[in-house]
Formats: sequence, C-alpha cells, structure tokens
Amino acid sequence: MPLCITNTMSGRKEPFVPLNPGVVTMYVCGVTVYDRCHIGHARALLTFDVIYRYLCFLGYDCRFVRNFTDVDDKIINRAREEGVPPEELAQRYIDEFHRDAAALGLLEPAVEPCATGHIPEMIDIVSRLVEGGNAYEAAGDVYFAVESFRDYGKLSGRGLDEMMAGARIEVDDRKRHPMDFALWKASKEGEPFWDSPWGRGRPGWHIECSAMSTKYLGQPFDIHGGGQDLVFPHNENEIAQSECAAEAPFARYWIHNGFVQLAKEKMSKSTGNILSIREVLERFDPAALRLYMLTTHYRNPIEFSEEALAEAQRAVGRVYETVGRADRALGPSSDGAVEPGPLDDFRRELDDDFNTPRALAVVFEEVRAVNRLLDRGGDLDARRNALRAMTETLGLVQAPPEHFLADRRRAGLSRLALSEEEVRQLIEERNEARRVKDWGQADGIRDALKEKGVVLKDGPSGTTWELAE
Ligand SMILES: [Zn+2]
Repeated sequence: MPLCITNTMSGRKEPFVPLNPGVVTMYVCGVTVYDRCHIGHARALLTFDVIYRYLCFLGYDCRFVRNFTDVDDKIINRAREEGVPPEELAQRYIDEFHRDAAALGLLEPAVEPCATGHIPEMIDIVSRLVEGGNAYEAAGDVYFAVESFRDYGKLSGRGLDEMMAGARIEVDDRKRHPMDFALWKASKEGEPFWDSPWGRGRPGWHIECSAMSTKYLGQPFDIHGGGQDLVFPHNENEIAQSECAAEAPFARYWIHNGFVQLAKEKMSKSTGNILSIREVLERFDPAALRLYMLTTHYRNPIEFSEEALAEAQRAVGRVYETVGRADRALGPSSDGAVEPGPLDDFRRELDDDFNTPRALAVVFEEVRAVNRLLDRGGDLDARRNALRAMTETLGLVQAPPEHFLADRRRAGLSRLALSEEEVRQLIEERNEARRVKDWGQADGIRDALKEKGVVLKDGPSGTTWELAE
C-alpha cells in the first residue's frame, strides 16, 4: 500500500504520487510574526514536522518551504503600540519563533522565506492578473475579481452565495463583488510601503504564499499545508491568484491540521484564549508536547488537557528509559539490522494518512517487547534498532537518553525547589544517621524528602532517588 493522504481538495484519501519520482515539494503556511507562538501553532508545526520526517524516512528528497508573514496589519499595529519600527518587531518574533522551533525539535525547512523579501515576485503576479482581467485597480488598491475565476471556492467546497451568507460583508464601493479580495493595498500614512505600478503600497496577505511557494517549488508543486482555519479565505485565494496568473494548477495535495481547543473554544488570538509554547515548555518536556499532539490524528480537534500532557510526560519517560536501557545493554556496537515486522506495522499506520495515534501504539508495543527482552534475554539488537527508527521518525527521541533523563531529573527537582546537590547531602546525612543507628533522624529525612516529591531507594550499591510520579 502506498502512502495515502486526505486531500482537502477532494475530501478523500488519495494515493500520494509526487509530480517527479523521488522528490516531494511541500509548502506550509508559516506564522505572522507579531507575538509569541501558542500551542495552536505548535500543533501545525509538529504535524508538518512529522509529515516531513516521514517523507524523508520513505526516501523522498523532500523540499520543504515554510514562510514568515512579516508585513501585516497586526505587525504594524503592535509596532505602533510599542513605538518600534515594524521590521524590528517582526525580527524579534522571528527570533522568538526560532527559539521555539529549536525547543520543539523541529527539522529546519530548506527555505524560510519572508514576505518582505519577495515584493517584486508579488508585484509580478498581481501585474499578470491585472493584464489578464482577473484583477482591477481601485484608488491605489488592487483587487482580485472572484467572478473571473470559475473554480473559486473549489477548496472550501462553497459557492460564492454560500460564502457571502457566512461572511461579514463590509460595504465597499471600490469592490466589484463583495467577495473580491485585496492583492495590493495603498499604504496609509506611517505604514511600510513599496513602489508599484499602482503607487506606493504593500501586499495583501494571500499573495505572498502564491509568490513564495511557486518561486521555490515551481507550479504545480506537490503538497500545500496549513491549519484548518487557513482553508478559507487564505488558501482558496492562493489558488485563485496562482491558477489565473500562471494558467496552470497550483498545489496537488492539500493537508490541513485541526484546531487545539481550550475549554471548548478554538485556540486563537482573537478569543484571548492563549497558551504560549514557551509557557507549556516551562512545565513539560518538548517530547511530551509532541507525543501529546501525536496521540490525536492531525485532522481531528484536540482538547487541551493538562492531565493528558502529564500522562504524555510519563509515557515519553518510558520510551527514553527503554532506549537508554537497551543502549547500555548493547553498548555502542550494532550490526545495523532492523526487525522488519514492527517497522512494517509502523509504516502501514503512517501510510494511512499519517495515522500517528496508531503508529504510537506500535511504538509502545515495541517498548514493551524491548523491555521483555532486557528482562529475560534474547536477541535485542534488531528490536532496539526498530524502536530507534520509529522514535526518530516521529522525532520523539532526539537527545541521548542519559542526557534527557538527567535533564528531566534536574528540571523535576527545580520544580520542587531542590537541587541535586541538596538531595545528595540529605542522603549523606541520612546515611550518617543510619550508621549511628539514629533511626528517627534517618526516617525523618526520608519522609521529608518524600513529602516534597523525592523518593529514596536503598539498594545493594547504595541509596538512589527518584521523583515521585
Ligand atoms: Zn499562506
């Protein structure tokens, strides 16, 4: 069975056949850089990170492009509030984005283009649309004429009448049809601007993705991705612009991830219902956030839940402990063989529209299998390699296990306002109390630590400690 992808365009699962054998071209709409990213962004980023990783795992040469929207009303307004130039604000949040992306363990795209670096390309598309009769100028603005594109609405599956029924229509005398959208906007006083055939202005939002995707990937290209909220109008408008300007199809497969919901509301800036990636990662491992997101199929909504994240945190610990234990048992040597059965199962699940919840079930079955072999003996190498291949494809295990587990212990202790040094000293004090048979003192130290969340374990090689679950 080949890889199948649910294509938003058809609403069906379709076998994935790239335009050029062995190569996949993929464009994903990035963020507007005016604030820190929230967990809704994390979901889109992790969804497409895993898709990218899996396409590479399948052996494709995957060319992945993800943009930054760095000129926009929200950026201009925020910059004005803060009294800084818009480009300075945008750069600050591009840097913040890169910090989050590194913390989440995202693979870097081949290109991360910024809208402001592609103004001539956008002007070129808009000019062609005007010449072809698909767009018109009105007082320094340029609008796309939706009635000029017979297929308008084909991605969202809605006709113009339906769209108008569902939209807030602002009366605008400059537009020929209420659903016409801006390709180019005349700049107001104090706004960033570029010279154009229609005077000084700046691009509308949608045109940048048409310009940047086709510049780096050609037209058509294979996969266009984004969050569900982008289907209409953003992606719909990209199709209209690009297909009219080039008289060629735009993107071949459309992939959209579902929302993250907080208390039953869509996670978005406008509701004020926001949890930043940074806030989540102060309390949970990046791998736990990743695992948590992957336990739901990317198309379905996720209800944000602290308990589920805590459960993912424990589950990630089990994966790392198992990989670490197997690595210690096997040492650095490996013949490189990979147990085929589990890896075939894993692949079958991901081939089915990137079904990560079922792929994770295969991973945890393999975690149990490796632990059984560690407990009872047997041929471990190929099973460990299968587990590693799976966890690396999902991006779940990115650090050496001993580093991850040590970091987690340190982070756990610091949440308890303790350091490793303090715990070590208390263990020594307790050992001293036991030597002089002061059992009351020894038990007191143990109980006080337990109260705080640190459990002491006495073994043949001395006393060790663990964080209570
Ligand atoms: Zn876009």
